[in-house]
Amino acid sequence: MSSYVAVGSGLAGLAFALRVAESGHRVTVLTKAQVAEANTSYAQGGIAAAVGEADSWKLHEQDTLTAGAGLCDPAAVRFLVQHAPDAIDWLKAVGTRFDTEADGDLALGREGGHSRHRIVHFADRTGWEIERAVVQAVREHPSIEVIEHAFATALLVKNGVCHGVRAVVSELGERTYLAHGTLIATGGGGMMYQHTTNPRVATADGIGLASDAGAAIADMEFMQFHPTTLYHPQLRSFLITEAVRGAGATLRNHEGRRFMYDYDPRLELAPRDVVARAMEAEMQRLGTWCLYLDLTHLDPEKIEHEFPTIYAKLMELGLDIRKEWIPVVPAQHYSCGGIVTDLGGRSSIRGLYAAGEVARTGVHGANRLASNSLLEAVVFSQAAALSAMADPVEPESLEVAEPQSVAESEAVRIRHALQSIMTQRVAVVRSNEGLKQAESTVESLIEAYRAGLKAPFSQYALETRNLLLAARHVVQGARARTENVGLHYNVDLDKE
Ligand SMILES: Cc1cc2nc3c(=O)[nH]c(=O)nc-3n(C[C@H](O)[C@H](O)[C@H](O)COP(=O)(O)OP(=O)(O)OC[C@H]3O[C@@H](n4cnc5c(N)ncnc54)[C@H](O)[C@@H]3O)c2cc1C
Repeated sequence: MSSYVAVGSGLAGLAFALRVAESGHRVTVLTKAQVAEANTSYAQGGIAAAVGEADSWKLHEQDTLTAGAGLCDPAAVRFLVQHAPDAIDWLKAVGTRFDTEADGDLALGREGGHSRHRIVHFADRTGWEIERAVVQAVREHPSIEVIEHAFATALLVKNGVCHGVRAVVSELGERTYLAHGTLIATGGGGMMYQHTTNPRVATADGIGLASDAGAAIADMEFMQFHPTTLYHPQLRSFLITEAVRGAGATLRNHEGRRFMYDYDPRLELAPRDVVARAMEAEMQRLGTWCLYLDLTHLDPEKIEHEFPTIYAKLMELGLDIRKEWIPVVPAQHYSCGGIVTDLGGRSSIRGLYAAGEVARTGVHGANRLASNSLLEAVVFSQAAALSAMADPVEPESLEVAEPQSVAESEAVRIRHALQSIMTQRVAVVRSNEGLKQAESTVESLIEAYRAGLKAPFSQYALETRNLLLAARHVVQGARARTENVGLHYNVDLDKE
């Protein structure tokens, strides 16, 4: 029996743990907050799979490649879409409930960029339901131990081989977890920006850990912004799923004009980057802070039934979406790039695997097709599990330096400065001058962090450091791109 470690308890980390444990091995899952505090729990729309009668993996493949704007890895895309129906079956077997039609078939929604109805969902809280089911399955498995409030601080890497991970565990202090295989499944890095749909745990820790260990990282400049995030002082960054636009909601400016007519013939269901750019341009043209999503022409009962979470949340704020427009802005949503992995979830370091949002599998290319990420988390974490079991390393205990922090007040200053420059200069619309400025600011913040190292361990400070290292990859990737493609749009490249 071998021992494996997964860092992160979202869908990727837990699917890996279940697959490895099913084969009779032990798994320790380290997670820095409570088990279900993960991007996975917040996913609303659903999970894409060609399971409908009028659909096929070939159509799903084509839609994914089109969204990726020529930069997907075709082999990874094929692997993803061909395994999608099995992934849905696996989730059902684990206990996930999905909405069904009267005849018992899965009810399928449609989202931007998909040529067919293929979004398997559970109302507008699919991620919550998936996380509920996998957490329960993991809790019931005797070979899996989940350690909450365990913050991974370093990978144990020697001579190109990973032997496990070091973590600071609440009430226990520093601990070493040696492993025959180590999975990074730490999710995204939305906290790099002022506005994000991601929860607070999304601090790009996996990118920081992998950077320190020297693992290959790529495509970080392809940062997806979700066009329709609630603009409201009491509820920042609450997502209004694309499925709402799929159901017929329209985007309007404050004058009531359906402005997408001026930008793209696919209107509200154009790919996310197109819609987000159109919204930025429209807000700039009109000098407004937000735009509006209009559901008022839809059947009120359908709104309450299909989007119960959104309906109830906004009602709490005094906004009746059956009668009033929803104020919305684009916000950071998903990181397409990450730790480079192959079809088996292997990173460039032996014994180290990555899956889920932290990985760059090649399936998203320059832009992620909606609802392909939960799917990617299942398919590639299970592939990583098989690879890890096929090639166990002999773990060796290694010395690692104690994690060092800056004072929290300094970390707060650095994080705010980072969020400000990334939001202003490295968001939906970029420019040569803006990227240059961002690069110099990020480097000076990294320098300031290094110069301030003297305080005792602070998770907030170390997360800030990880955000800085990830931001450096985003900015450097954006500066190196010489053409506008997918999510990367630099106004100056249009002029050349
Ligand atoms: C609001 C919202 C809506 C979305 N809707 C959809 C959708 O409809 N369909 C879709 O396909 N995708 C959707 N996504 C994207 C999708 O949810 C994520 O990409 C996916 O869930 C990522 O899963 P994951 O397991 O890789 O990471 P996560 O679910 O984010 O889990 C990461 C885990 O790592 C832990 N962690 C992080 N750093 C450390 C550390 N240093 N030490 C220990 N633990 C650590 C975190 O605490 C967390 O448990 C949505 C995302 C958001 C935010």
